[in-house]
Amino acid sequence: MKGDLSHRRSLENTALSRLTSRVTLIDDRPNTSLAGLPDRSHDRAVRPGSEPVQSHGCRVDLDQVQKTFIDARGQSHIAVRPISLTFDSGSFNCIIGPSGCGKSTLLRIIAGLDSPTSGHVTLTGTGASHESHHPPGSAKQDGTSPGRASRLSYVFQDAHLLPWRSSIGNVEIPLELAGVARSERRDRAFEALRSVGLADAARRYPRELSGGMRMRVSLARAIVNDPELLLLDEPFAALDEITRQNLDESLRSLWASRGITVIFVTHSIAEATYLGERMIVLSPRPARVVLDRTIELPSNRPANIRSTPAFAHETGEAFNALSRGDS
Ligand code: ADP
Ligand code: MG
Repeated sequence: MKGDLSHRRSLENTALSRLTSRVTLIDDRPNTSLAGLPDRSHDRAVRPGSEPVQSHGCRVDLDQVQKTFIDARGQSHIAVRPISLTFDSGSFNCIIGPSGCGKSTLLRIIAGLDSPTSGHVTLTGTGASHESHHPPGSAKQDGTSPGRASRLSYVFQDAHLLPWRSSIGNVEIPLELAGVARSERRDRAFEALRSVGLADAARRYPRELSGGMRMRVSLARAIVNDPELLLLDEPFAALDEITRQNLDESLRSLWASRGITVIFVTHSIAEATYLGERMIVLSPRPARVVLDRTIELPSNRPANIRSTPAFAHETGEAFNALSRGDS
């Protein structure tokens, strides 16, 4: 019995360390170069049907970011051509492109999970104490400093929940790694679950949840430590259409209430159009930007906005850019 428990604890420690490398936390070491004072001109978060929310999302600058992979035979393959982009503080950005074009590579580089072959990424926080430069490969993947918000969270297509932990137990993980006290962690995890509509499922285990609910737990875990940047890599791609639309609506209201910067990768034109304020369309590999467009839809987006002419116009623009690709 005792052997079982220690075996489980060892499995959990292994899983936690793997998970930490997925839910990436950027450090803000004082010796990294400063990216300047907070620039409030980027705090433009105006939220659906409410007063503007003060953004606490960070700004992301990509400067000539390029990535080349070398295969087993020593041949080089360019995955991402030099890309320069700025993602404003508190903005909701969607990146869309054909399969294999380099979307995940770009997102991983932004997270610091991978380093660019050339160019660099700068994350500039909005809190005075959060100004930091994020040079290639500087992401910290082994935990976070106790007592401070982590800079970014990363959500994958798979929810990556620990099966032996309840929903709330899974959501608590980033706080546990950050050394937050047990009672505070419970409260914050419950609040995060409530904000994704899962307050009633806090004690349920992953096997008792639907695919959509598991993804909601994953979202709650991503926001529980109050990140400044939320990176999502096709998180709802495996869900059925209606569940996916519901999740999209929840994600938009999370963004609306928190002023966080979001970069969302998808291959669905309709999903990108519904979610984003800005749509970036990439060409087939090696990725380059073929469309960078403000989505001209009201910030208040009820579900039936998807059947309006304005929505169809936006999806048409993206479709044309995707079809043109590099030609
Ligand atoms: P997407 O997310 O748009 O489907 P990826 O960013 O995953 O595309 O991949 C872009 C290209 O880079 C693909 O051709 C893929 O095979 C290649 N690639 C991705 N990761 C690696 C890697 N670690 N080693 C070698 N090639 C890779
Ligand atoms: Mg991908």
